[in-house]
Amino acid sequence: MPEAELYAYALRAALEPLAWPLVNQHGIEVIVRRDDRLDQELSGNKFYKLFFNIQAAKAAGATTIASYGGAWSNHLHALAAAGKRHGLKTLGIIRGERPEKLSPTLVDASAQGMTLIFQPRSRYLQEAGQLEDKAAVISALHAQSDSELGKVFLIPEGGANVEGAHGAQVIGYALEQQLHGDYQQVCVPCGTGTTLAGMAAGLPGNKIALGFSVLKGAGNLGANIAATYRALSDRPAPNWRLVSGYHGGGYARKLPDYLRGFWREFELQTGVQLDPVYTLKMFWGIAQLAHQNYWQRGTRLVVVHTGGLQGRRGFKQQIDW
Ligand SMILES: *Cc1c(COP(=O)(O)O)cnc(C)c1O
Repeated sequence: MPEAELYAYALRAALEPLAWPLVNQHGIEVIVRRDDRLDQELSGNKFYKLFFNIQAAKAAGATTIASYGGAWSNHLHALAAAGKRHGLKTLGIIRGERPEKLSPTLVDASAQGMTLIFQPRSRYLQEAGQLEDKAAVISALHAQSDSELGKVFLIPEGGANVEGAHGAQVIGYALEQQLHGDYQQVCVPCGTGTTLAGMAAGLPGNKIALGFSVLKGAGNLGANIAATYRALSDRPAPNWRLVSGYHGGGYARKLPDYLRGFWREFELQTGVQLDPVYTLKMFWGIAQLAHQNYWQRGTRLVVVHTGGLQGRRGFKQQIDW
């Protein structure tokens, strides 16, 4: 049974107590769940989000998996590796014009065999947001691709579908098993919120999943999380919360000085590396909430390290410690 395989995988994640004075001084114990360490290529939450998508693609008899992302997309980076591992072709539809020099993320993806199609922003946004009309999108992909795609299975941008959330649900199951209920809240960064929704559904109802949004404008994020959660859980009182306001300017490639300073200090103090887009902002948010006494003294907090460290390569000049 594939779910048992994913569960066994999730149980292997190390749970490391974090010596982090900034938060420990408020009487809060922090345990980092090292999902970033489990798989070298399909880092962090992406392994979980792709798991049932790949099963579904195989069950549908697809030969190609296609999905969307930007030049630094952790999702496409992982998808390329997953496709190679499972003998499926992959197609990455990239936001923006083809640059003269590919990002290291896209260099890796094409080295894994991913075919890249670049789309102007306007068209990308229209198409990535219109996956309801999958048949039209797929026929357009066939027309655009130089190589023979065969049957195409389409995954939305960021792996944001119920299959993705179903995979993340297993993080919740495994964590409860590993800690025997001895914790109160679980923090995770949010892009699409798929991981938050799935993980919350997998945790017992009295354990709160706290998502830190990295986007400047939340848009439909809350509504999307609610819908995804409802697809997996019929609990009347949802056990997830969304924290926004700690996005540090959103997806920008240049970090504000305060975030860069925090990043440096955090890594030097704890020895845990962070990625610039997600985990950095989550830990920054956690530090702020602890400072505001958001948690009672004695709280045992689990923080999921969702990976994404390949994205550090885009910030080389800014991380010289
Ligand atoms: C993709 C990603 C996320 C966001 O996951 P969602 O399910 O889209 O909210 C968080 N952290 C890292 C490191 C990621 O790569």
